[in-house]
Amino acid sequence: QKMPITSINPATNETLQTFTSLSKDESLNAVATAGEAYQSWRKTSFAERKKVLLAFATELRKRSDEFARLITLDMGKRISESRREIEYCAEISDFYANGAETFLADQPMEDVDANAYIRKEPIGVLLGVMPWNFPFYQVVRFAAPNIMAGNAVMLKHASSVPQCAQAIAELFDECGLPKGVYTNLFIPSEFVETVVADSRVQGVSLTGSEKAGAAVAALAGKNLKRSVLELGGNDPFIVLEDADIPKTAELAVKGRVVNAGQSCVASKRFIVVESVADEFLTAFKEGMSKLKIGDPMDEDTTLAPLSSEEAAVKLLQQVQSSIDAGATVLLGGDRPDCEGAYFNATILTDVTPDMPTFDQELFGPVATVYVVKDEAAAIELANRSSYGLGGSVYTKDIQRGQRVAEQIETGMMFVNQPTRSQAELPFGGVKNSGYGRELSSLGIQEFINKKLIHLG
Ligand code: NDP
Repeated sequence: QKMPITSINPATNETLQTFTSLSKDESLNAVATAGEAYQSWRKTSFAERKKVLLAFATELRKRSDEFARLITLDMGKRISESRREIEYCAEISDFYANGAETFLADQPMEDVDANAYIRKEPIGVLLGVMPWNFPFYQVVRFAAPNIMAGNAVMLKHASSVPQCAQAIAELFDECGLPKGVYTNLFIPSEFVETVVADSRVQGVSLTGSEKAGAAVAALAGKNLKRSVLELGGNDPFIVLEDADIPKTAELAVKGRVVNAGQSCVASKRFIVVESVADEFLTAFKEGMSKLKIGDPMDEDTTLAPLSSEEAAVKLLQQVQSSIDAGATVLLGGDRPDCEGAYFNATILTDVTPDMPTFDQELFGPVATVYVVKDEAAAIELANRSSYGLGGSVYTKDIQRGQRVAEQIETGMMFVNQPTRSQAELPFGGVKNSGYGRELSSLGIQEFINKKLIHLG
């Protein structure tokens, strides 16, 4: 019944460490411990919770190099991006440590009834099911607000990042979080059902693929538990004719290859108005072709491997199926001849809506470029997607950018910069990209009982 959970370095395909998963009984014992911990944690003051989370942020900063190394070893991210991820986790922790009491303050209702107010209470034990692409950030984004809210958190991390999963749990423990308030669950995804069905568990949050999201949302529905889903994206990057092309092309490279292209809000569909298409494509190709593949521990590397050999194989299949269906390779289109899960920076043009990859998330350094007649056609194409996570539009006219942004069916739109995540700003999508919001003052409201109290 127990399974190995293995960390494999995608830069070398070397096995680094193997952990053992919990049995079903052990998983349920962990839920029981979390249930007990919740009963005490919910009664703690914001000041007590804040102390723990601020200590967590301080330790993340102090031991940034150590944790960044674990991220790069588990999933291959460039070391400077791993360090930035750790710093960002500290910022999110600070944000909720300092803001939770205000975000969750009683809400008077004197406009309608002077005797009524809304109290914001925790709801119980929550399960997070998280992916490997940002192994610390995905966890902290969910855990920090919920720990501050008084919930208890259990975390089933992606099975490819066990070193990070364990380090996060140990750090919460070292920072004084009582046992059971945060639990790392080394379980296979088949056990998620058992955990979600337990009456002590009151909500589940998943970040990952549509397939995993639909499976977990179905379990949540069946068991009447709340859920938040942050799934894939196919973000449009709209270049209008009055954009600053050299700068936009630079941002296009950055937006596409962030995290070696494995980000839900990476720019993926480059929709360019025809009058500037040649100029944009020339500059974009130049930028993409300058990327230097190499060891992610080397500070000079600008394009890291993908997270695993399987991920690289899957991406190659997706690219190949587009080529077979008639797409043109402007750059790359294949893997370099070396050990490790590497993929060459790729630009595909002539991709049409009838190709299988048109509506698929390409999780790697592969850009698809669409040339359109004008702004209206760009908006129409941007909205022709089953996803609706983020997106961006480029123009020197901010009001025009705003007008376009308002017409795109996504959860986040940025003018003149690719979509990004920031502790103070809400994050989440519509359509098949999921539901619910994370980060900001909204992210802490998802697993809260907004309880009416009426004083007669
Ligand atoms: P998955 O969605 O399979 O994995 C995400 C998490 O969900 C992992 O913890 C995984 O566990 C868990 N999981 C998977 N299936 C189930 C299930 N049926 N029930 C419960 N938990 C489940 O992502 P992959 O790693 O397979 O990546 C596939 C694609 O998903 C990518 O190519 C990308 O397109 C998209 N993706 C998007 C992300 C985003 O940030 N939006 C992040 C990651 C992937 P385990 O590891 O044990 O399988």
